[in-house]
Amino acid sequence: ERWFRVSGAQLGRDSGLYVLVFKDQSEMRRIDRMRSDFIANASHELRTPLASIAGFVETLRGPARNDAKARDQFLQIMQTQTGRMARLIDDLLSLSRLEMKSFSAPAEPLDLKALIDGVVDALRHLAAENGVEIERDYPDGPVELRGMRDELIQVFENLLENAIKYGQDGKRVVVTVEKPQGASGPRVTVRDFGPGIPDEHIPRLTERFYRVDVDTSRTQKGTGLGLAIVKHILTRHDARLTIRSTLGEGASFTVQFPGK
Ligand code: ADP
Repeated sequence: ERWFRVSGAQLGRDSGLYVLVFKDQSEMRRIDRMRSDFIANASHELRTPLASIAGFVETLRGPARNDAKARDQFLQIMQTQTGRMARLIDDLLSLSRLEMKSFSAPAEPLDLKALIDGVVDALRHLAAENGVEIERDYPDGPVELRGMRDELIQVFENLLENAIKYGQDGKRVVVTVEKPQGASGPRVTVRDFGPGIPDEHIPRLTERFYRVDVDTSRTQKGTGLGLAIVKHILTRHDARLTIRSTLGEGASFTVQFPGK
């Protein structure tokens, strides 16, 4: 905290004006801590698959050198692990791109129904693999929105992917689009009928690397960064994310866009 006497042409010499430069040390410390936690987490998440790959390479060059069956199995694991690393790097790049303040694609007029249709088509394969049917509940007529196309595609991809992954096999996933009402803009809800999320975890889901149940989450491909990215993008759109869940009945993620 320091007082500076302001002098200079605009103000006139000895204008007598003082400015308080206030540095909130504790806020800066908090941001520093978050940054180093993030780097530590990211390094750990990358190291785990890398260590596994390194271990299998060693085994393949040594004891398993002439064992065709083991070789196939190990190569398969190595492929899964490289996939995991690639996803993590993609998500880290998305987050860092979003955090560069100077980067901001221009908002464009979008047709929300068509945008979500594109996402549903892209996820058809994953849905089929998980035995999930994606249902759409749309209002009549176009639902217009101004926003950044690629970012919003990423939002709905992440929400739908989670609903498919964490919802239960054979159950449906429903995407509901509602038209603007009163002063608020359109609203999109992605709902699944899976095991749901315990209340105490809900406020933390959008934190980076936060995953609810490490065991079940590990069996599902994911980085723990998806909802952090969603939150980031929605903040840039002045949109709000509401997460609701009843254990045993499923979870819903609602995006409320601002009015014009
Ligand atoms: P991940 O890459 O692990 O899917 P996310 O940030 O997208 O990361 O989600 C964080 C965690 O929130 C997930 O690991 C999972 O535990 C939980 N989660 C997200 N969506 C759902 C859902 N629809 N049902 C149950 N749990 C969910």
